[in-house]
Amino acid sequence: VQLEAKAYVELVFEKVKKNNAHEPEFQQAVKELLHSLVPVLDKHPEYIKAGILERIVEPERLIIFRVPWVDDQGQVQVNRGFRVQFNSAIGPYKGGIRFHPSVNSSIIKFLGFEQIFKNALTGQPIGGGKGGSDFDPKGKSDLEIMRFVQSFMTELYKYLGPDIDVPAGDIGVGAQEVGYMFGQYKRIRGAYEAGVLTGKGIGYGGSLGRKEATGYGTVYFMEEMLRAKGLSFKGSTVIVSGSGNVAIYAIEKAMEKGAKVVACSDSGGYIYDPEGIKLETVKRIKEVEKKRISEYVNEHPHAQYQEDWKGIWSIPCDIALPCATQNEIDEESAKLLVAKGMKALGEGANMPSTLEAMAVYLENNILYGPAKAANAGGVAVSALEMAQNGMRYAWTFEEVDLKLQMIMKNIYKDSVKAAEEYGYPDNLVVGSNIAGFKKVANAMLAQGV
Ligand code: GLU
Repeated sequence: VQLEAKAYVELVFEKVKKNNAHEPEFQQAVKELLHSLVPVLDKHPEYIKAGILERIVEPERLIIFRVPWVDDQGQVQVNRGFRVQFNSAIGPYKGGIRFHPSVNSSIIKFLGFEQIFKNALTGQPIGGGKGGSDFDPKGKSDLEIMRFVQSFMTELYKYLGPDIDVPAGDIGVGAQEVGYMFGQYKRIRGAYEAGVLTGKGIGYGGSLGRKEATGYGTVYFMEEMLRAKGLSFKGSTVIVSGSGNVAIYAIEKAMEKGAKVVACSDSGGYIYDPEGIKLETVKRIKEVEKKRISEYVNEHPHAQYQEDWKGIWSIPCDIALPCATQNEIDEESAKLLVAKGMKALGEGANMPSTLEAMAVYLENNILYGPAKAANAGGVAVSALEMAQNGMRYAWTFEEVDLKLQMIMKNIYKDSVKAAEEYGYPDNLVVGSNIAGFKKVANAMLAQGV
């Protein structure tokens, strides 16, 4: 007997809860996706018959490994490494590596799960994966970081390859770490396989525009949403959480579009500059000096620094761009943003809103650009980097940026179309989930059990 869509979703989610107990972030990501798929399962019972949901929530494999390394005092340290190879229906596993003390299998699995659908939305041939370690790069010397990364890659390399699994950066992993990873992979593998990693330096196979891609892409995506309602970044007040790679380039592009960005943050607190943030100062503090964002007020004393990064959501704004980390906006913060007049919110980070916060946006008709769609620009340009590596050719910045703009527009169009087709007009959560899911599900159907 064919199960009814809703009952099937409940059944699969119960199984996920049972098999992934004590993994709240992973359960949250699965719950969010599954529940928006009911209308598509209603229309396509073949997905139920083929057990697509049960298959899609189970990683193809999860690799957990020991990472021993020697610190500057000669003391041996041990961290835990992870790589989830979640889904390869439409291409080699693709997704970043995160170095942060909070990393565990729940975090890696939620990120890898989201990555499947985000990557599908880009229209590029990439499957879903993610990796990382609970190693904390903060306060470590360059040599400690290099030794750690070399040990990490010494174990991970055997699971990677340009047609197998292609990591990149994420929180705590930038061009420097990718460079060390690439060097170690090349040394062990004995071959120059440029396409095995993305986010590489420009001089050795990296793509122009990759660094800017996630932040720029989020603004390009939100621009489409705003335009459809007769709004724009021009003249609007924007707050951006975070001050890492995603936040910095979201700020840059929002400013270029005529917005006034008044706040950003790091894990220690946030700065509020009512005159508009001086991006050069933020870039220097975070990218060059690698210091705390609190330094900003030493140079710009009219700005304020507040400890408690969560307080950033109490600043009145037209548009909020959470670009820091998962679950940074809870129900209370979401209500505060809405009460103070926020009209649109675009997610540069992965899963920055709790399920309760998402419900607040939808109830209040906020123009909500969910992470899978809004932050897909980074991985999209990673796929363009793979393409350039395959061709042994490099596009100009302008060529890459134009392709990125087209990709973000297409994600927007596909999401709007799916939302309308399945009876949830204006709901891009449902739209992007369904659009991404169908691409993966159809490939899985075609390839058999
Ligand atoms: N870490 C980024 C993301 O969350 C980029 C991944 C990639 O470029 O592979 O999508």
